[in-house]
Amino acid sequence: MSHTAELIAVGTELLLGNIANTNAQVLSQSLSALGVNVFWHTVVGDNPQRLKEALDIARRRADILITTGGLGPTYDDLTKQTICEAFGKPLILHPDILEDIRAFYESALHVPMPENNTQQAQLPEGCAVFDNPVGTAPGCAFECGGVHVLMLPGPPHEMETMLRRHVEPYLRRLSHEVIVSRDIMTFGMGESSVDQLLHEKMAHMTNPSLATYAKPFEVRLRATAKAPTEAEAQAMLNPVWEMVRETLGDIIYGVDIASLAECCHAQLLRRNMTLSTAESCTGGLVAEKLTAIPGASAVYRGGVVSYWTSVKADLLHVPQDILDQYGPVSAECARAMAEAVRQLTGADLGVSVTGSAGPDPDERGVPVGIVYIGLATPEGTFCRPLDFGRRRRDRIQGLSANHAFDAVRRYLQGLPVERI
Ligand code: ATP
Repeated sequence: MSHTAELIAVGTELLLGNIANTNAQVLSQSLSALGVNVFWHTVVGDNPQRLKEALDIARRRADILITTGGLGPTYDDLTKQTICEAFGKPLILHPDILEDIRAFYESALHVPMPENNTQQAQLPEGCAVFDNPVGTAPGCAFECGGVHVLMLPGPPHEMETMLRRHVEPYLRRLSHEVIVSRDIMTFGMGESSVDQLLHEKMAHMTNPSLATYAKPFEVRLRATAKAPTEAEAQAMLNPVWEMVRETLGDIIYGVDIASLAECCHAQLLRRNMTLSTAESCTGGLVAEKLTAIPGASAVYRGGVVSYWTSVKADLLHVPQDILDQYGPVSAECARAMAEAVRQLTGADLGVSVTGSAGPDPDERGVPVGIVYIGLATPEGTFCRPLDFGRRRRDRIQGLSANHAFDAVRRYLQGLPVERI
């Protein structure tokens, strides 16, 4: 049987727009991966009457209610009390939880526990307790008349820790089916083009299902299957993967991998090769994305952010006649930057980015959005010319960085580098 959840975020700060409801995003991602339908997100202020109204509506249309926030010790933290009243559950003091909270204050915060924290140790009668190793407010879950009510704390790191430790296992136990997903990662085609190619097939699929998600600068496809066992679900996904691979071809850069940077990192590791970067308009973004990956030093030697033309000339030794004749935003300069950084660092590959990210054209009048990616390799140097048009500066930079990684991954996979 499939379940339907409603997420109820409690907090006046959310309604005032002081903070974004990121908890709902994280929870929804997790629930959809577990195969739980999420049809409603509700946000309600710290007001017991309106929370009660929200609960009355939610319990009629969903069988899993998950609240976040309002579990703290202050007067406006009323989630638990209101839920208990709505569901006719008495609150019971748990002396062991009270001791844990007291110990957390003394050992982690080095202050005595304020007495109003006692209410955090009161939980609905007969509930499952979700301990909170990174904060004080425990969460909990109970079932009443076929509706499961789960209460989680508001601070995102506490909520997420509890989600992984307790909520996901709790929800998995409610289902007799296994949900398996595969994330197929693509770069080089917009979401609408990917959708156009796959729409007809996707529209008729229910189990397994296939959906597109636009990530910043790339498109992710998620194939999901529900079956009694993992092996059966995996078997159902195989033909979906074959169909997507046949349709989209080499714009697919990986399956169940987080980013193009991680794809390059993994492939460089596999090939035992190293990379260096020479960046202009991306200002070190390629280096940053790569060094964010643990273990980057095994494949990344270093880089130069050569923003000024004089730095391209003095540090990277881009020949002056290239700079004079073609300018710093040119295929010739991109090639020279890539070759120079490869040679300077002794890396197997040197990748470069030079372009005009805007908002104004560069000093030689190169239009905004013109970018060149250079890639120096043992087999020669490649250049990918790009024209992003008048997009926002950060988008041009983000796309350029991804094209730099895409050039590297295509080289490593033996595909043409200069175009997609
Ligand atoms: P505490 O014990 O810290 O009082 P709590 O469970 O009572 O926790 P709230 O007081 O409602 O939670 O929220 C604490 C903080 O958590 C908020 O100030 C906000 O920074 C963050 N927060 C609350 N709800 C959300 C949400 N839905 N999305 C993102 N952040 C949130």
